[in-house]
Amino acid sequence: MNLQEIVDDIASAMKPRLGEGKIADYIPELARIDAKQFGLAVTTVDGETFTAGDASVPFSIQSISKVFMLTLALGKAGESIWSRVGREPSGSAFNSIVQLEHEHGIPRNPFINAGAIVITDMVLAGHAPREAIGEFLRFMRYLADDDSITIDEKVARSEQKTGYRNVALANFMHAFGNLHHAAELVLGVYFHQCALAMSCVQLSHAGLYLANRGTNPLTGFSVVSEKRARRINALMLTCGHYDGSGDFAYRVGLPGKSGVGGGILAIAPGKASIAVWSPGLNKVGNSALGSEALEMLTQRTGWSVFGH
Ligand code: GLU
Repeated sequence: MNLQEIVDDIASAMKPRLGEGKIADYIPELARIDAKQFGLAVTTVDGETFTAGDASVPFSIQSISKVFMLTLALGKAGESIWSRVGREPSGSAFNSIVQLEHEHGIPRNPFINAGAIVITDMVLAGHAPREAIGEFLRFMRYLADDDSITIDEKVARSEQKTGYRNVALANFMHAFGNLHHAAELVLGVYFHQCALAMSCVQLSHAGLYLANRGTNPLTGFSVVSEKRARRINALMLTCGHYDGSGDFAYRVGLPGKSGVGGGILAIAPGKASIAVWSPGLNKVGNSALGSEALEMLTQRTGWSVFGH
């Protein structure tokens, strides 16, 4: 299988369609991005990276950060985290508040905003927000083995000014006793984790531990146990694409996590970690061209967790 040829073919197929979808403009700083960009990076478990398009351009990883914060929280508190957040697909939008009332402030899963805010609250325990942000940034640099990764302060501030829904979700959970720190402290960390800027290449490196039984094959760093890697992948498959998770599993067949910056991290266990980015989003808020590119990739490679 010639992976370079496959990623090149995908990038060429996307070229005439650049700009499709709708940019997330509810975060003003994200609305300023050039929509006509597309990047793809595939890093295999034997350490080779294949790239096409704008694979080296940093973008706002947004909700993809939730996978890595979950990894940190599991490292700190283990399975006890599941008393404060569920493991079921939500069937609602990423920032829905309705379900939270029905379920007494326990979010459905760690990948919708409410769930991610609870996870961030856990990582914040015993720290000042600045330290928790530093811990997250160091973790990402360690995972990707790249110290040049930074947080885009403009994006973080932009969301801090306009994140009314997230403020509502956090306060609502506080009222149910499921947030242990003040909403503004937790959200300060949450907005910064979402504002992390990474390229497809860096992201595909950072996700490798999930494709390789918990260990990053590039660095040899053991990040999580094999069992934990499997479980994080299970959550990505069932909950990683908001209300589009079922469709993504059907079309792509891999665990994946999307972000409103237009990025998607997908994991082919035992094979590769894949990052794709194109800012225009489809109706459920996932990268339009990114989802299609992954569908093409899995069709060409035969990668799927559902069979060969
Ligand atoms: N920072 C974004 C928010 O909380 C993340 C959403 C996403 O990427 O889906 O609205």
